[in-house]
Amino acid sequence: MSKLSLLFFLFLSSYQLVLSQNYWQQSVNYKMTVDMDVESFKYSGHQELVYTNNSPDTLRKVFYHMFFNAFKPESEMAVRVKTGKDINVRFKYMPNIDSLKKKEQGYITSLNLKQDGVLLSPVESETILEVPLNRPLLPGKKTNLTMRFEGQLPKIVNRAGRNSEDGIAISMSQWYPKIAEYDYDGWNAEPYLGREFHGVWGDFDVTINIDKNYTVAASGYLENPEEYGRGYGEKQKKVKGKKLSWRFIAPSVHDFTWAADPDYVHDTYPGPNGVTLRFFYKNNPEIKENWKKLQPKTADFMRFFNNTIGPYPYKEYNVVQGGEGGMEYAMLTLISGDRNFRDLAGVTAHELAHSWFQHILATNEIKHEWMDEGFASYISTIAEDIILEENAPFPLISSYNRYFQLATSGKEQPQSTNSNRYDYNFGYEATAYSKGAVFLAQLGYIIGPAHLAKTIKNYYSLHKFTHPTPNDFRRVAESVSGIQLKWYITDWTQTTNTIDYAIRSVNEVEDKTLVVLERVGSMPMPLDILVVFKDGTQQMHYVPITLMRGEKSNPYDGLNWIVEKDWSWAFPQYTLTIRSPKKEIASIVIDPSFYMADIERSNNNYSSKKR
Ligand SMILES: [Zn+2]
Repeated sequence: MSKLSLLFFLFLSSYQLVLSQNYWQQSVNYKMTVDMDVESFKYSGHQELVYTNNSPDTLRKVFYHMFFNAFKPESEMAVRVKTGKDINVRFKYMPNIDSLKKKEQGYITSLNLKQDGVLLSPVESETILEVPLNRPLLPGKKTNLTMRFEGQLPKIVNRAGRNSEDGIAISMSQWYPKIAEYDYDGWNAEPYLGREFHGVWGDFDVTINIDKNYTVAASGYLENPEEYGRGYGEKQKKVKGKKLSWRFIAPSVHDFTWAADPDYVHDTYPGPNGVTLRFFYKNNPEIKENWKKLQPKTADFMRFFNNTIGPYPYKEYNVVQGGEGGMEYAMLTLISGDRNFRDLAGVTAHELAHSWFQHILATNEIKHEWMDEGFASYISTIAEDIILEENAPFPLISSYNRYFQLATSGKEQPQSTNSNRYDYNFGYEATAYSKGAVFLAQLGYIIGPAHLAKTIKNYYSLHKFTHPTPNDFRRVAESVSGIQLKWYITDWTQTTNTIDYAIRSVNEVEDKTLVVLERVGSMPMPLDILVVFKDGTQQMHYVPITLMRGEKSNPYDGLNWIVEKDWSWAFPQYTLTIRSPKKEIASIVIDPSFYMADIERSNNNYSSKKR
């Protein structure tokens, strides 16, 4: 078989779409001050929100996420971790939440919550605070919500926490009372069971008061960085008391995360388009060299994502040793850092990719977890292959293999399953990451790689700084390709239907060869069928499906491309006619590109037994 080159990413976009006029999203501006006690890991703060109701609805209630209350014994998350049918890898090496003593638990409480100066009576329901408003908030109106809050960072590191395995003192993600998102779908006030997030877009102005020996890394831009030294500026101002104040401004984000440690090394590296990349890591000789090598590679990854998705819109990005595993936040990632270089580069590429697929294209991760994990996995896998010069023959092989494992495991649930409702953690992970990555790669097979590349760019330019849904993405792909894709979104994301096509028989009849194909799986797909003749020549027969109402153009450079009649779904079989007098067929293959996720490839091939 000749090597088929698929040219992803080489096509620039000039295409324009506009957002639906019915689209609206809420907006919130946060002003917060927090005081951290580095001995007890207790913190207290003040929060002032200006919340704007851009919805057409009158709001009589609002909700806040109080994530740290999940780190109390007998919390819903603690129970869920114990009762899942398999182990949640994020909790694998951690102490049991139920074993945490009072001083080790996580919690957060709201005090003195007021709407426009009038005291409210919120109801605390573990990780959700229900807040009946004093005055209904009318469409188009703003309201001021203020509160004090008190919390404790848990002595367990699950995204956030104290004293991580790498020895990072403070990892502060999901640490503040976070107003829940209200969107076309109503309130998104889901309890926190350890899955992911959905937040309101806005500006954050956060002042952190902490022991002066600690270096702080945070979402946003540090005010007056020149006064802080420690990698931020030249001078270090003299501090009289025990604590130092750090003020960060983060514009147009939907989350704010920070970390602090007394021993952070802080390096900066110039990224593309004038972006400053910041690296915070432990002053540990065993990891230092990896963290130095990571810096130019992070700039390369950012350049790659700028070129393939769209320009990174902020002026800074922080790669911070902290948390466990890796987790994406606004303008920042927390990653564990005791890793070999390949691993460190891989996790950084993946989390950086989330700056686009979650922190700019902010899908609701509870509902559409595959749109951030899958898309980030897809683009970072390709970036790693190119930037780390690995040149794998099929870089997405592990995503496909894990999807095949899922599809044949009997543990699969549809991708549209609420992320808290997966029976198996394996099912969630493989569905969100692997099946999500295959969704995009396979879309490239359906509409062609050039149209996929253009779809990704148009999706970014049209939906950045919003909350796009699967249908938003589909509509962009349809507009770019001229191919209808409702069937693809439906079968792939809302069912567990699988793809299996087979070659049933090959018969010579006079001067023709009749190839009987069969759709074994219930999910329809267009077929690229490669016919190789004994003289070494090749033809690609393309069988679109009726539901597409269109065809892709030949993606295979220089290969003879024959467009066949459509195959309608209800017909289990299809006869392909190969007219090639005087030529003998050596072999026939359904989908030689391997981008179609056919769960049973052994029936995709035919080879002639005749000499
Ligand atoms: Zn991810």
